[in-house]
Order: sequence, then C-alpha cells, then structure tokens
Amino acid sequence: MKIVVIGSGKGGVGKSTISVSLALLFKMLGFKVGLIDADIYGPSLKGMLSPDILPREEEGLLVPASSKGIQVISAAYFSKFDKGAPVRAPLINGIIEQFISGVKWDNRDLIIIDLPPGTGDIHLTILQKMSITGAIAITTPQKIATLDVEKAIYLFQNMKVPVLGIIENMSFYQDPLTGEKHRVFGEGGGREIAKKFNIPLLGEVPLDPLLMETLDQGGGAKFSLSGEVLWKIAIEISSKLCDHEEELKILEVKKTGLHHVEIQCGGKKGQYRFSDLQERCPCARCLEKDVPTDPNVSVRNIEILGNYAVQFHFTSGCSQGLYTWLVLNDI
Ligand code: ADP
Repeated sequence: MKIVVIGSGKGGVGKSTISVSLALLFKMLGFKVGLIDADIYGPSLKGMLSPDILPREEEGLLVPASSKGIQVISAAYFSKFDKGAPVRAPLINGIIEQFISGVKWDNRDLIIIDLPPGTGDIHLTILQKMSITGAIAITTPQKIATLDVEKAIYLFQNMKVPVLGIIENMSFYQDPLTGEKHRVFGEGGGREIAKKFNIPLLGEVPLDPLLMETLDQGGGAKFSLSGEVLWKIAIEISSKLCDHEEELKILEVKKTGLHHVEIQCGGKKGQYRFSDLQERCPCARCLEKDVPTDPNVSVRNIEILGNYAVQFHFTSGCSQGLYTWLVLNDI
C-alpha cells in the first residue's frame, strides 16, 4: 500500500480540494483509494465528499466512511467534532494514533493524507510512524504562501520523505469566452519553489468555479477549467507510485480492424473491442451512472497521453475516459 501526504504549510491554498480531486482521479485510474483527513481541528473532507456509507466501529477498529468508492476517515466523524457524527471521539491525541493504526481499510492500493496546515505535532507523528511513499506540496502563486510551503518541504526533507513535486493551485483564471488568462494572485511562486528545491512542478491548477461549487455542495469534485491539468498531475504521480514503472508504460497502440485495437503495456499485449472499452469508460460521469454504449462503436482517433494513458475518440458516445494500464488490465 502506497501512502502519499499532501501538505502546504498554509491553510486556504486548496490542500483539501487537491486531495479530494486527486483521490477521485486516482480512483478513475484504477487505484483503490483511501483518504485521511488529518486536519483534526478543521476537518473539511466530510463536507466536500458526502458519505454514501457512514463509518462504524468494529472490534475496536474504525471502519472508514465511503463516498463515491473512496474510503474516508476524518475527525468530523467523531461525535466531539460534529453533532451528527456516529463514532465516539477518542482523546484528541488518540485520534491520530487511531488514524495511523486503528483503521480497518478494505484492501486499499493508495492512501492520501490531507495534512493540517503548518508543521506541527500531527505532521511529525504521521511522518515518523507511517511509511510514507512520497509528499506533494501545494502552494498558491503569491509570496506569502510560498514562504510557508518552504517550511513544509524542509520538514519532508528532514524526515527523509521523498517530495514527488509541487502543485501551484489557483494559478490563474481563464476567461471561457476569450481564453485569456488572468493571474489574479500573482505569478511564478510554484515555479520558483520547484527550482529552489529541485523538485518537479507537477502543474498549475487554474481557478475552477465548478470545482469549488461541487465541493461546497459535498458532491465530490467535478472539473471544468481544472480538469486537464489535474488529470495530467494524477497520471504523472501514478507513474511515480508504481514499483515497476516500465510496466505502466503504454508502448504501442495499433488499430487492428474497425472494432478492435491491440495495446502493448510493458511485457503484455492485449486485444480489445472498442465497445468493451467504451462500456468500461473510467470517466467520472460513466462511473456514476450507466451510459449506454453502441456494440458497433469504432474510433475516429486514438491519442497516447504521456505514455501512461490512452484516450479513444469514439465515433459515438462518451470519449472522456483515460485508459491507463490499471484500467486496461481490468477489462
Ligand atoms: P485548504 O485545505 O488548503 O485549507 P481548501 O481546499 O479548503 O484549502 O480550499 C479553500 C477554498 O478555496 C475552498 O472553498 C475551495 O473550494 C476553494 N478552491 C481551492 N482550489 C480551487 C480552485 N482551483 N478553483 C476554485 N476554487 C478553489
């Protein structure tokens, strides 16, 4: 099981937003995802991802809540923090211990931990006691946020946690009519930090009103302006998380007839029918509800994205899904 922490140093930069967004995207990429809201004093994930199944206690362990197929634990589920919460709260410093070793996860591949702002005790406990695969730092473009995120990166480095990269959030607002980018909060903060610490700038996420609204309503994350860059970030991180990166690479995609395609990933080669691929479309809309597919569907075009995903532009129906090795392996 891989564990990724998401930290920022400063509150309000979109750490929880990015954590939930990436959790949903990783799920679409085929990972079984768990999400820990480690912000004990200001838990927000429960509000962003309304639970389909509430958490419960079982033999002294906490069985996480579930929302859109993602398992979630948050202090918001403890009765001291939320009047409607179903689980009694252990003592405050017992909560993090419970999150670390008292959760009954259901066979997860990846746990994402949304760290609290700052660099305090909770961070130290998590970084010391859990075997963290990597850390992602979040900043906004302006100087005041970058100063704080530097402290978080120093902490990760001191604790020998590999920093997978930095994401600059709320980088710009793009006018949907003219396409013009407005750098509302200044420019270049993420790039400067990436250079200073020699870590990758994973992406610049634009302001996305749809993302803000859907999270505010507890509906998970729906993407419009931010979708493309968040997908790219999720694909890049998923390749870093894989033990056998070579296996993940899509080496060759060859259309072998009107209805079939041959795909080679790593050492394996597979034949797929386009209708089967479309039926298992991993995009958010198709995962949420059954979208009818045409058994004779073909493709207009096939695109390989960054070596790790294929997008089929089908002749009819949905073409939004990105098919990674994990998704293809399951078809
Ligand atoms: P943090 O976890 O760092 O405190 P949040 O994720 O709670 O920050 O984000 C703070 C606010 O900013 C939320 O209302 C969230 O919806 C909004 N927000 C974050 N990122 C974006 C974005 N890219 N586009 C639009 N709104 C955003």
